[in-house]
Amino acid sequence: MSLKVSVIGTGYLGATHAACMAELGFEVIGLDIDQAKIERLAEGLLPFHEPELPELLRKHVASGRLRFTTSYAEVGEWADVHFIGVGTPQRTDGQGADMSYVDAAATSLARHITRDALIVGKSTVPVGTARRLEALLAEHARPGVELSLAWNPEFLREGFAVRDTMTPDRLVFGIGTIDSEAMLREVYATALEAGTPVVVTDFETSELVKVAANAFLATKISFINAFAEVTETVGGDIGTLADALGYDARIGRRFLNAGVGFGGGCLPKDIRALQSRVSELGLSHTMGFLAEVDEINLRRRDRVVHLAEAMLADELAGAKIAVLGVSFKPDSDDVRDSPALDVATRLFNAGAEVAVYDPKGNANAARRFPRLDYCDSLYEAVDGASLVLLLTEWEEFKALQPGDLEPLVRKKRIIDGRNVLDHAGWEASGWSVAAMGRRYPN
Ligand code: NAD
Repeated sequence: MSLKVSVIGTGYLGATHAACMAELGFEVIGLDIDQAKIERLAEGLLPFHEPELPELLRKHVASGRLRFTTSYAEVGEWADVHFIGVGTPQRTDGQGADMSYVDAAATSLARHITRDALIVGKSTVPVGTARRLEALLAEHARPGVELSLAWNPEFLREGFAVRDTMTPDRLVFGIGTIDSEAMLREVYATALEAGTPVVVTDFETSELVKVAANAFLATKISFINAFAEVTETVGGDIGTLADALGYDARIGRRFLNAGVGFGGGCLPKDIRALQSRVSELGLSHTMGFLAEVDEINLRRRDRVVHLAEAMLADELAGAKIAVLGVSFKPDSDDVRDSPALDVATRLFNAGAEVAVYDPKGNANAARRFPRLDYCDSLYEAVDGASLVLLLTEWEEFKALQPGDLEPLVRKKRIIDGRNVLDHAGWEASGWSVAAMGRRYPN
């Protein structure tokens, strides 16, 4: 008989995982403590933007294979495997990860599980968490109930979450007991049969793989952005530099786009949590470079603000600035630690009138920072603008031509925060163009 699966936490990771598990043929219950979120999901409505996921959710809510609940008692007596995908945000009082949600989920599960079961951690956590949770589970488990724990970090990318879950690059199983490996192999049989590489390892390695991957990606982005700071002074073309570097197969071209830097609910908080964890372990020297990676990244936001100030000079107060893109990356409505939203709010605080348009991110941004002027279309945002900022590389912004905006803007000035426009072409049309990694004024 097919395994029954519960997924604890139905945010970006958990809702995707739950729907994909249903697609793989399992019976699934998603659980969250957010009643409103669960009610929406139970109606087959996704509370965030993620391509391909709405269809999958509707399909399996309709088939009855995917249900949602807020009751730990319900999943505790029903499921064979419980995935934990709750949030691990940065603590408000420091750099470390806030582990209270993971701890609460594990404790609630242990208290409510009525038969032997496997608990699988998917959240991104500081190394040492799984060993600590094993003890927590044993402490709270019901008498006679045996709970196994495995760690199975998640590598999905927002915007490609369904594809990444259905056909992952690799699977990592951090294993406590042999039994848990067999059960994980059953859960992931489809991907394994398709040849997905699987790394079976211990808890510590599995926890570290995830943060190491994110630390590497963040470093790669800050690496090219550090060179962008150099070309901004000496001249040169940062895109050509990246292309030439990327031809080296040992380096590769991906994640070498100079721009306004990384953001979102993962990279920034993960590199900070890693520094915090190694510092607790007395190993702060090992990850010292990540402080620099973080600083380079945040300096990119300063650069855009300074360019805007330079381009508007004493007109900034009261000038209309159009901000195109507010989610932290295209194909997502996620505005957590978004460079675009950060820049927009700083320019607003400096006295500009900031009009924002994002194909999907406006509503989330408006909840965090309601005082910006959120527009329903790109054209409404740029209408009367003295400066246009392109800060998230949505396809519709990449396709922009100077003539699209010319009838609307007050001044032909643009900052390309993602290096996606043909700068020479825009300049030939009379635009003043600033971009990341480019000297300004030229
Ligand atoms: P999220 O904020 O979108 O979702 C977390 C969910 O957990 C929320 O719906 C919240 O209500 C719920 N929750 C909190 N406490 C709970 C509890 N005690 N019981 C049940 N539900 C609870 O976060 P996310 O982006 O899905 O990230 C979740 C984890 O996955 C994090 O550790 C993150 O680092 C990791 N991760 C995220 C991504 C991504 O792209 N979003 C990718 C890989 C890994």
